[in-house]
Amino acid sequence: MQVTVTAKIQIAVSPEQRQLLDDTLETYRKACSFVANYVYQTHDLKQFSLNEALYHRLRGEYGLKSQMAQSILKTVIARYKTVLENQHEWIKPDFSKPQYDLVWNKDYSLKGEIFSVNTLSGRVKLPCFTGGMEKYIDGSYYFGTAKLVKKPGKFFLHIPMTTDVPESSDADICNVIGVDRGINFVVATYDSQHKSGFVSGRAIKQKRAGYQLLRRELQQRQTPSARRRLKAIGQRENRWMQDVNHCVSKALVESNPKHTLFVLEDLSGVRSAIERIRREDRYVSVSWSFYDLEQKLKYKAALNESSVITVDPRYTSQACPVCGHTEKSNRNKKLHIFKCMCCGYTSNDDRIGAMNLYRMGISYLTDSQVPDTVASQHI
Ligand SMILES: [Zn+2]
Repeated sequence: MQVTVTAKIQIAVSPEQRQLLDDTLETYRKACSFVANYVYQTHDLKQFSLNEALYHRLRGEYGLKSQMAQSILKTVIARYKTVLENQHEWIKPDFSKPQYDLVWNKDYSLKGEIFSVNTLSGRVKLPCFTGGMEKYIDGSYYFGTAKLVKKPGKFFLHIPMTTDVPESSDADICNVIGVDRGINFVVATYDSQHKSGFVSGRAIKQKRAGYQLLRRELQQRQTPSARRRLKAIGQRENRWMQDVNHCVSKALVESNPKHTLFVLEDLSGVRSAIERIRREDRYVSVSWSFYDLEQKLKYKAALNESSVITVDPRYTSQACPVCGHTEKSNRNKKLHIFKCMCCGYTSNDDRIGAMNLYRMGISYLTDSQVPDTVASQHI
């Protein structure tokens, strides 16, 4: 099984190098656009014949070195193939923004803290910040086609790094953990050691409320500058939330052994329902953040030979984790108490979701061979 993570590395540039990269990105973009127009008219997607037809113009009119000319043909071909696969018709890919796709070892390489890249003036070596990337550079990851991305005043390199991890089989699983995502708690967990864990959501809730207040103020102003700030704040909030999710998923994986089965609620149905609500509604970003946490947990778990399953979310807060009796009145939301109307099992209601997810994970493993009651005895 393959897992890909994307590193985002900042490149340090002098004013002259900045100009050179700017020129390179712009020329690359224009040349891509030129090739895209040609392909749009001819429907020719073969590297060989495109090379025959366009190589001299790419070298002459755009002043490109041979390797960059080849790289442009490859980029345009790849973009058309993606469009054709997804939309099944000839739509011209968009090359209106500065960009530069770099093939590993041909257009770029990375050694220690030196990024080496093809430009209009040939190969250039630039310092970059690779702190924290040591484990990716040790040879167990291979680097894919990177993107050189320009942000205001800065250049970044986005590198997809792929590694092979042993497929984790259900038969190897030695630990099951139910992970309930929520608002009061970012996650509540319950695992095979019968331990509950909680990550409080209070600080996050407060910070989000602050962002929401700010957003509301800006929305009322309706000026161009307010709209710009609104967008910037949205992006900042997203980055911050992604960082929280990165830490939470990392902690979950690191505090559990290899061959753990993480059991989450399947929120795909909930998400599509929620996303129809207007954008400013906070629930949209909450559901987005749940989804983001799930994605991060999935790849981190895979790297640790563990896996993630999602299960039907209905009744996870109403079902009794001991006897399975499901009734709305089992749960007293106001008092945060769960009391089973059938067997009398009582607990703090924040644990119930995670316990039920744990129970469903055990059922998933034992499948239908063992009745539910056996799984319940674990608790
Ligand atoms: Zn019960």
